[in-house]
Amino acid sequence: MSLSELTASQLLQQLREGRIKAVEVVAHSLRQIDQYDPTVGAFLRVNRDHAFAQAEEIDRRRSRGEKLGKLAGLPVAVKDNICTQGEPTTCASRMLKRFVPPYDATVIARLKAADAIIVGKTNLDEFAMGGSTETSALGRTCNPWDVTRIPGGSSGGAAACVAARMVPLSVGSDTGGSIRQPAALCGVTGLKPTYGRVSRFGLVAFASSLDQIGPLAQTAEDCALLLEVLAGHDPKDATSIPQPVPPFSETVRQPLEGLRVGWVREHLGEGVSPSVLAAIQEAIKVFQSLGAKVEEVELPHARYAVATYYIIACSEASSNLARYDGVHYGYRTDEKAMLAELAEERRVLQQQGKSEALEDLDTALVRMYRKTRAEGFGAEVKRRIMLGTYALSAGYYDAYYLKALKVRRLIRQDYDKAFQKVHVIVGPVTPTPAFALGEKINDPLAMYLFDLFTVGTNLAGLPAISIPCGFSEDGMPIGLHLQAPPLEEETLLRAAHMFQQVTDWHRRRPPLLDRQAVAT
Ligand code: GLN
Repeated sequence: MSLSELTASQLLQQLREGRIKAVEVVAHSLRQIDQYDPTVGAFLRVNRDHAFAQAEEIDRRRSRGEKLGKLAGLPVAVKDNICTQGEPTTCASRMLKRFVPPYDATVIARLKAADAIIVGKTNLDEFAMGGSTETSALGRTCNPWDVTRIPGGSSGGAAACVAARMVPLSVGSDTGGSIRQPAALCGVTGLKPTYGRVSRFGLVAFASSLDQIGPLAQTAEDCALLLEVLAGHDPKDATSIPQPVPPFSETVRQPLEGLRVGWVREHLGEGVSPSVLAAIQEAIKVFQSLGAKVEEVELPHARYAVATYYIIACSEASSNLARYDGVHYGYRTDEKAMLAELAEERRVLQQQGKSEALEDLDTALVRMYRKTRAEGFGAEVKRRIMLGTYALSAGYYDAYYLKALKVRRLIRQDYDKAFQKVHVIVGPVTPTPAFALGEKINDPLAMYLFDLFTVGTNLAGLPAISIPCGFSEDGMPIGLHLQAPPLEEETLLRAAHMFQQVTDWHRRRPPLLDRQAVAT
């Protein structure tokens, strides 16, 4: 069996039993990257030499009988908004193109302590703002199932590299759907943990009250394995929950008795494509056949989730991104050119005798800020900074930001009520399968509406998972969304694993892999 057909859990077992070596696993991963990434574009950077050296070291330690970490020898990809010490962390932005963090994010430190091998950093929408990975200033990622389509976003690279079997495990972040949505569109499994379950220390902030780091992999079992390493209390993140981490990788295999599954009428109606609808209805039947009791639940405020999310996310982004001013971090405009430009403007105004305009002219500092931010940020990031600044400004704060906070509370209360009746809520992750590259990029509203089913989870701080549950007529993957009450990742993982025991959607491979394998 080829190494790319093995899941992370299977690879780990073979590594432990000495049937394969870490260097072979890493070599295979790098070969897959060499073969498919020129087409897919999942990675912004690959740490070839370092990955090999680390694998050799792990093999040596294993041969000496040393105790190794939980992920020893497994290649892992990391989204490029998570800080890696001494290695660039760009957020796919010109602003941070040359930023090299002096420290590791807590999740990176945990991965290293678990002896995982970080093979590279993956592409994303700029500062994780987007749902297609098209706002990246540093490259294009496409969907391995059809290279003319988006991989989803913002963790598009993270999902695409698992789908194309370049790595068995990948780490993403989810502020409004960014793990689950690309997982769904690329046919992999992705979990967004409860807010506070995984430390955000070292995750470049987009919207701090919504951001969470989480795992992507082929299966729920593999997500459990990775989550167990990523999760846990961290004093460096004040919002981190001081709760012990359950042994997810063991409990994931325990079947759930008496599972109660809820569905929401509005999520299975207007705007959802027929192929998605059919796949979700089939998935519900699968749960029924596994003995689950299925009933309807109501989330009456869900229809306000997109509006609420975009007010809150943009407001927090406008504040978080204020630090990129050319002084503290990252990119700074060409100062010589900027000073020359300013001197020229001053000379012309003086010549024309326009004294008022002269007084209004920028100081050098203000002009430096302006140009730095105008050049460093892309259009979508600027749009969000402007929306957020507007929503927070005097006179509008109560009407927008405060109102959004109130609706956020109502959304959370809806979930609390629904979860009195059921253990999980199922539905679609996205209204349609992956759309064409370029199709929505000039229509921000259409792009935002695509987040309809995922943003509520973040507003309420809940855990949720996306698992493959079918394909459209034209062969694109469809994801099933499972949402659970806070800290119920175990329930999600067990329910998802049960589903994956009796279905094989998660085992399907993009045709690209077989086509190119034959060609070479
Ligand atoms: N698509 C959503 C947005 O554009 C979610 C992004 C995310 O989760 N990082 O904001």
